[in-house]
Amino acid sequence: VTNPTVRAGGRPRLFTPGPVEIPERVLRALAQAPPHHRTGEFRAALLRVTAELKALHGTAGEVFVLAASGTGAMEAAVVNLMGPGDHALAVAGGSFGTRWVRLLEAYGVPCATVAVEWGRPLPSAELARRLDAEPRARTVFATQCETSTGTLYDIEGFARVTRERGIRLVVDAITGVAVHPLPQDAWGVDAVVCGSQKGLMIPPGLATLSLAPWATDAIDGVRLPRFYFDLRKYRKGLPTGDTAFTPAVSLVLALEESLAMIREEGLGAVHARHARVARAARAGAVAAGFSSFSSSPSHAVTALLPPGGVDAGAVVQRMRDVHGMVVAGGQDQLQGRLVRVGHMGAYTVGDMEDVSGALAECAAALGAARIEPGAAAAAARAAGQD
Ligand SMILES: *Cc1c(COP(=O)(O)O)cnc(C)c1O
Repeated sequence: VTNPTVRAGGRPRLFTPGPVEIPERVLRALAQAPPHHRTGEFRAALLRVTAELKALHGTAGEVFVLAASGTGAMEAAVVNLMGPGDHALAVAGGSFGTRWVRLLEAYGVPCATVAVEWGRPLPSAELARRLDAEPRARTVFATQCETSTGTLYDIEGFARVTRERGIRLVVDAITGVAVHPLPQDAWGVDAVVCGSQKGLMIPPGLATLSLAPWATDAIDGVRLPRFYFDLRKYRKGLPTGDTAFTPAVSLVLALEESLAMIREEGLGAVHARHARVARAARAGAVAAGFSSFSSSPSHAVTALLPPGGVDAGAVVQRMRDVHGMVVAGGQDQLQGRLVRVGHMGAYTVGDMEDVSGALAECAAALGAARIEPGAAAAAARAAGQD
């Protein structure tokens, strides 16, 4: 059995936690000849994109668009918000929370770590307790959706804890934005970082950092060494659409298109669709014999443990070779244990029916009890209803 798409030399479908499938409209925007960036045409596009990003984040503050992968925006947050002698506290319950810790260590920032069991959420009361025990930590670094485990954290609760104590909260929402709500100003989140190849549905290469209105002056003063990511340089051009360095022009134009798609669907409807798609993914996979790894599953990525005796790496391989679907394995300590299905961006319940049926076929082919692919697909469809 070889997937007809693969047999015909077709392109495999991406169901990874980034990069994601790029919608046709965005592909067309990418095909434009890029204008020079020092032109009225590009400045106007950047101004429109910046305004749309502020609406998307729910902030009246400032949004900076960087030519970098998501980690670049994480680094920008560290070097612009932390000064010599400042202490941090990082929530680490997976590979990306741990990335905050490594980044802070690389810059010599003293950092207390809240080590959360991978796949479990962190109650905000526990964050409060840790902060009260670490009075020198004045900035918290957290993750909205821990992509390595498919776990959603309670950012609204975290922000309540930090606001109450006058502590800054920096959130990696790279797989949260345009998937789960994160109204920055309303919740009281000082800084949010995002990347382009996840819920924003464009290719890799852009990252954003947004500052809430009360946090814009946090980047002034003596901070860690910074040059390319010195946000004060980017700020100068914000009112006119000018940039300090050559921007990723084509990706900015693609982002304008994807933000228009999100606006047209409606942000609430986008969040609701991701909830349905994630429910369908979980139910379909469970019907196929898999189990959900996270006890607080996100709507961005579903992390699955294969049925007993079935090798996760073999499932990933067979999904690609036989079904033409690219899913991800586990990262770091979960390598070889997990199958991760990404569904942020332009995905539907129908896509999850396909994935669920394929997972059922793979599990049976790799030694698990046979479950009809059609039954797994039906379970996905049923769970994905409104
Ligand atoms: C993808 C991702 C990142 C950034 O990764 P890059 O490869 O640098 O784009 C950071 N945090 C989370 C939670 C992610 O999912």
